[in-house]
Amino acid sequence: MRTIDAQHITETIVRLCMEANYNLGDDMLAAFDKALTTERSAAGRGVLEMFKENAQIARTQRLPYCQDTGFVICFVDIGQDVHITGGLLEDAVNEGVRRGYKEGYLRASIVADPFNRKNTGDNTPAVVHTQIVPGDKLTLMVMAKGGGCENRSKYKMCTPAEGVEGAKNFVIECIRTAGPDACPPLIAGVGIGGTFERAALLSKRALFRGIGEPNPKPDLQELERELLEKANKLGIGPQGYGGDTTAFAIHVNTYPCHITSLPVAVTIECHAHRHKEAVL
Ligand code: SF4
Repeated sequence: MRTIDAQHITETIVRLCMEANYNLGDDMLAAFDKALTTERSAAGRGVLEMFKENAQIARTQRLPYCQDTGFVICFVDIGQDVHITGGLLEDAVNEGVRRGYKEGYLRASIVADPFNRKNTGDNTPAVVHTQIVPGDKLTLMVMAKGGGCENRSKYKMCTPAEGVEGAKNFVIECIRTAGPDACPPLIAGVGIGGTFERAALLSKRALFRGIGEPNPKPDLQELERELLEKANKLGIGPQGYGGDTTAFAIHVNTYPCHITSLPVAVTIECHAHRHKEAVL
């Protein structure tokens, strides 16, 4: 059994929250460059160049890449030989978010209650998802999830008869209706199978894959490729100015499901795709 102090988790979350907001990942920077080689719209290319410049300013001046510094989504993979001491895991994560957002001068965007709308003032609480995995390591995956794109995420319980075509149509419809509102080019995390809640979780987790890193299963790789091609034929383009780059990637995760069900969840993520990871 390996012991990890809750304080270590907090310190790591402080760092990941700041880094996510200031340093767009190499996968995103590569996605901007790749899109610049294929984007035919002058306005679209101009927007992609602005994204690159914005990322550079954010990184060098330690400023947030976007004013919406997001809802912190934290996936924690806990090795079953790990014992956390000195406090509760979720408290440790929230303390890290509290300090990261305060010390990093990052906007607080969370309201304590969906109806009274009073800001909690420190961007807590995070949404924490835990999973027990083999081994004695603890992996912290943090995403600063923008509200505008999250608001365009959707779920549909397809019928099994709708099959893969029904799932594809729903994913493309989500991207089409998100349009410019979700700050494209987008990354769509798609969860297919499981139950209502499992499909949504699969779709969120799919966003933690490096941009364009394909699903290991060949049939799902082909599905991702086909969906990306279809999405980029919609013509929405960077920030909705029209063009060939409506999406940078579509990541699909699947899970077994009930004989009567075909759940499909789509989490829409924007060009401010801010995610960081640490292994303790
Ligand atoms: S959708 Fe993304 S890029 Fe647009 S405002 Fe929100 S976080 Fe920023």
